[in-house]
Amino acid sequence: TKWVYSFGDGKADGTADMRNLLGGKGANLAEMSNLGLPVPSGFTITTEVCTEYLENNETYPDTLAAQVDAAIADIEVSVGGGFGSADKPLLVSVRSGARASMPGMMDTVLNLGLNDETVKGLEAQSGDKRFAYDSYRRFIQMYSDVVLGVDHYHFEELLEILKEENGYHLDTDLSADDWENLVGQYKEKVQEELGRPFPQDVQDQLWGAIGAVFSSWTNQRAITYRRLHDIPASWGTAVNVQAMVFGNMGDDSATGVAFTRDPSTGQKIFYGEFLVNAQGEDVVAGIRTPQNLTKQSRLDAGSEAPSMEEVFPDVFAQLVEVYKKLEAHYRDMQDIEFTVQQGKLWMLQTRSGKRTAKAALKIAIDMVNEGLIDKNEAIKRIDPASLDQLLHPTLDPAAERNVIARGLPASPGAASGQIVFNSDEAETLAGEGKSVILVRVETSPEDIHGMHAAKGILTSRGGMTSHAAVVARGMGRACVSGAGSLNIDYKNETLSVLGETYKKGETVTIDGGSGEVMHGAVDMIMPELSGEFGELMSWADEIRRMKVRANAETPLDAETARKFGAEGVGLCRTEHMFFDAERIVSVRQMILAETSEERREALAKLLPYQRGDFIELFRIMAGLPVTIRLLDPPLHEFLPKTDEEIDELAEALGAEPAKLRHRALQLHEFNPMLGHRGCRLGISFPEIYEMQARAILEAAAEVSKELGDTVIPEIMIPLVATDRELEILKDKIKAVASAIHDETGKDIEYLIGTMIELPRAALRAGDIAREAEFFSFGTNDLTQTTYGISRDDSGSFLEDYVGQGIYETDPFVSLDQEGVGELVQIAADRGRETRADIKLGICGEHGGDPSSIDFCERVGLDYVSCSPYRVPIARLAAAQAAL
Ligand code: PEP
Ligand code: MG
Repeated sequence: TKWVYSFGDGKADGTADMRNLLGGKGANLAEMSNLGLPVPSGFTITTEVCTEYLENNETYPDTLAAQVDAAIADIEVSVGGGFGSADKPLLVSVRSGARASMPGMMDTVLNLGLNDETVKGLEAQSGDKRFAYDSYRRFIQMYSDVVLGVDHYHFEELLEILKEENGYHLDTDLSADDWENLVGQYKEKVQEELGRPFPQDVQDQLWGAIGAVFSSWTNQRAITYRRLHDIPASWGTAVNVQAMVFGNMGDDSATGVAFTRDPSTGQKIFYGEFLVNAQGEDVVAGIRTPQNLTKQSRLDAGSEAPSMEEVFPDVFAQLVEVYKKLEAHYRDMQDIEFTVQQGKLWMLQTRSGKRTAKAALKIAIDMVNEGLIDKNEAIKRIDPASLDQLLHPTLDPAAERNVIARGLPASPGAASGQIVFNSDEAETLAGEGKSVILVRVETSPEDIHGMHAAKGILTSRGGMTSHAAVVARGMGRACVSGAGSLNIDYKNETLSVLGETYKKGETVTIDGGSGEVMHGAVDMIMPELSGEFGELMSWADEIRRMKVRANAETPLDAETARKFGAEGVGLCRTEHMFFDAERIVSVRQMILAETSEERREALAKLLPYQRGDFIELFRIMAGLPVTIRLLDPPLHEFLPKTDEEIDELAEALGAEPAKLRHRALQLHEFNPMLGHRGCRLGISFPEIYEMQARAILEAAAEVSKELGDTVIPEIMIPLVATDRELEILKDKIKAVASAIHDETGKDIEYLIGTMIELPRAALRAGDIAREAEFFSFGTNDLTQTTYGISRDDSGSFLEDYVGQGIYETDPFVSLDQEGVGELVQIAADRGRETRADIKLGICGEHGGDPSSIDFCERVGLDYVSCSPYRVPIARLAAAQAAL
């Protein structure tokens, strides 16, 4: 087996696409060598060796040593030195390099190959004794720490003592002899700590370092990093051994990092920093202030320190050529590291550069215009979820923040405002032009107006599909939900956390993208829907097959959705239309009614409101389909709760408070989410659905007449488990339609369909499709009922489940494709078997989640529906899914 891949001198054994075997760094070093760029010669020991080493009790494959020897010999020839040679010593770096970049997580050793003899050779070669002994002491310290387990501080202490005794302040105050002296002390320290000397044999040094890098794959830091970034432990790391080049060999030496375009704006400018007479780690460590690369960026920054373009014009020109070549070759923005040793440029690394969403968009579009990539590639390169950054205000990354709590990142965007504890007050203060953050233990439909008035919503209870989260996303309000450490006291209107108490009116900031809650106001950056955004969206639209609709019920949401490119409404939750102060009395009367007549009386008052709602919705969505779901919520959401509310209602209805209280108790449920909701309401109280059907059909007729264009509403029945439920309710709706026909002489077109949101409905979709003209997957309820976990209060243990890897992610956020997904697939297949042209969509929260959207494409759904602010994300994700 080939375990070792050499590179350098314009050729390499490996290539860029061998990153699984060579790691990212090794693969790109090979590729740069193949491109003829100046790369210090070296070799990569493959990730397979790492796996073997860790599996076989830290032993290597038999043939590895011979391959390493041969590769070292190649480097010796290339650089004209000898590993361990006293007059022309070859020094090497030993670095890790996994498939995915894991910055700073694993170990590195520099200057390897120095000992009491070779240090003299380095002195002779560089003509600089100070440099030679400084390098040697750095090596002893680094190697001892990484390989031998002798901690840094032992050495730092010795350096401090030496400085103090001599009255030195800076490392640069030390003379060559001081460094030599210190090297002696360092070696004694190692002997003292380990009972054996610092290894002088360069082969021992090399194998010690290789073993340490492989072992660092399983150190705690690396394990944690992998868990946070979903990197499998089985990948292993490669080891890169490479001839050292020195950026600290005098004033004609330097080291730097650069991006081929600006990673924060995407602008096509060469962007980066460098330091004269320094080693790579010095730039990263931030000890000295680095200088600009180009003269222009120096001028823009108003800096006096000369740029690389000015100090090293020739090397700079060479670097410019290299970066252009790299970008053209990789066809992506590169993040590069380089060193200049005594006037000669060396490339140490290249990789795709990390960038902001804004930069990603600009770079992708520019690269299409430059002919570097095609539109499909541009579409693939943008992370759909990152578009959120462009649609909402975000916290200024440079701003200071005082984090007091963390919850779930329930709805993106950042918001600052005064805290208030009830929705009426939120509305009043917002009406006075104040910014408010509505703070609730959890929200209910009664809070809609307060949520709407607030800039952001903060709750201490509830998950990613809790009421607060769903509604906030729909409205585009920032929301942090389930911040369990908050103690909310409604009575005193205070919020306590970490021993501090915040009163009503104090300012907090929430970041719905990270879940952070901060005290005080934090600076923000406002969104900018630039032309590039629109351009990318139009490319996505050309590619995607699935349609994208929005979940919307208010005119504002519907308008926002259309602005973001929604192609209709996939879910209008009618219960959200009933909480308006003007209507709530009639709604409560309808719910509490003991007789059908009483109920009809209440419904008659609601009918004109509902019809008005739908007229507005149809007008905004003119020419597009609108799916209206009949009443779904648990009854208790409408019930008056406090004595005051009951008294008020009794007075409004002219009823006995005691009687009302009794009726409310009768309707109380222990498990409302699984109780009297959805089509069960329609079955028990058919008058409700009849009123809604009438409102929908009359509104459709009116808007059709007005626009001269047929509005075809899609009437959707929720929480169906059996075909019989649908059959009964469908008959009622048809009866309403024919009554309207008798009254007006007009036929109104409409579709009747159902949500598939219970496992039984998915399994019996074949029967249900006989009645239903469309299915919309309600994956919120389907997830809840398939797992048997509550959407409202699973927050308390979900974190443990995700943390322990029992669930890969929160199944309410990203569809469980294996389990819940299988039910979706079954229902789609069985539905299509019965009715070949059945229209299929999804309207659960997963309709806006990119990986779930990919799943929907594979099942062949006709559309996804999501909250308005996620429409652009879904358009892009649907395009990616189609590629
Ligand atoms: C669902 O259950 O997925 C759904 C869209 O309906 P709701 O969230 O209103 O229950
Ligand atoms: Mg549902």
